[in-house]
Amino acid sequence: MNKPGDNMRFCIKKAALFVAVFIAGIACAFSKEAVFEGEDYSIELSYNDSACPGDAVFVRMKFTQTSRKNKVSRTEFGSTEASMEFFAGENKLSQSQFYQLPKSSSRTVLTMLSGIPLSSWLDSEEKYSVKITYSLYGQKKYEFSLPVKIEPKTFVSETLDLDENNTMIKTDTSPERMRQIAELNDILATTDMQSVYQTTSFAAPTDSTRRTSFFADRRVYAYTNGKSSTSLHNGIDYGIPEGTNVLSCAAGKVVLAKSRISTGWSVVIEHLPGLYSLYYHMSSLNVKEGDTVKQGDLIGLSGSTGLATGPHLHWEVRLNMAAVSPDFFLNNFAFESLQ
Ligand SMILES: [Zn+2]
Repeated sequence: MNKPGDNMRFCIKKAALFVAVFIAGIACAFSKEAVFEGEDYSIELSYNDSACPGDAVFVRMKFTQTSRKNKVSRTEFGSTEASMEFFAGENKLSQSQFYQLPKSSSRTVLTMLSGIPLSSWLDSEEKYSVKITYSLYGQKKYEFSLPVKIEPKTFVSETLDLDENNTMIKTDTSPERMRQIAELNDILATTDMQSVYQTTSFAAPTDSTRRTSFFADRRVYAYTNGKSSTSLHNGIDYGIPEGTNVLSCAAGKVVLAKSRISTGWSVVIEHLPGLYSLYYHMSSLNVKEGDTVKQGDLIGLSGSTGLATGPHLHWEVRLNMAAVSPDFFLNNFAFESLQ
């Protein structure tokens, strides 16, 4: 295994503020840019070198062929592969594959992107890093590591008293509910490398800023039978009246649009390989499975179907199966230049 440092110059060009304003919460994500100069290619690297627990780390790599004499074909260039792994100290916590961004690639330029979810339980005292491994047109593998700083963040803890009906839903172990959970997990586990719909900032799914629950609230559900269970709240709840417009947070493909026992009328949209947004408890839907949507398209009306203690919209984002903070994606998470 060779490190780029063996034959390349590594220099950090600039560290710029990545996030100006968050609607709620703390700005954790800063972007860093770096350049590797190889013998016949260069890599321009953008990534967020800091994040909060429950955010994600995104890395964008732009490979450019710089030498005329070693020119390879488009197909060979396109066979470039890369992956990244996330480490706490020496312990590998997760990994993710890079995919190609079609619009920003040409004969001599290839742009790849990958994101890795961060658990909301990460300890800001620990040392974290991502290790990137890549192989340019079938050549030998290179690897390098980037430090990632995890900022401290506190999450809400709350107890929810469920009534008879919501207790029944939450403790339902019927084959139909189990089938629905497995079906959703199968969808979220799908990483289609061709599914690149939007790499610019997401938008909130409603105009409302009235949030009644937050991402990664630590919840205790108290049942009517005296028992209880604990869980994380995987999304953001907006307290909006029944019948309010619910909008797609980004362009994508509708991969689920149906009524489910626990989440009521629900929509799931695929935006990037392994990246999905979810919308729950609606009163009616305006899209069907297989539809493609643009950012801001009407996908349904809010309601209180499924496990709900009142009308609200539950908005959730999943990356490689893990629930991540939707607020992270309201920023330029994929480092798309905005000219
Ligand atoms: Zn919710």
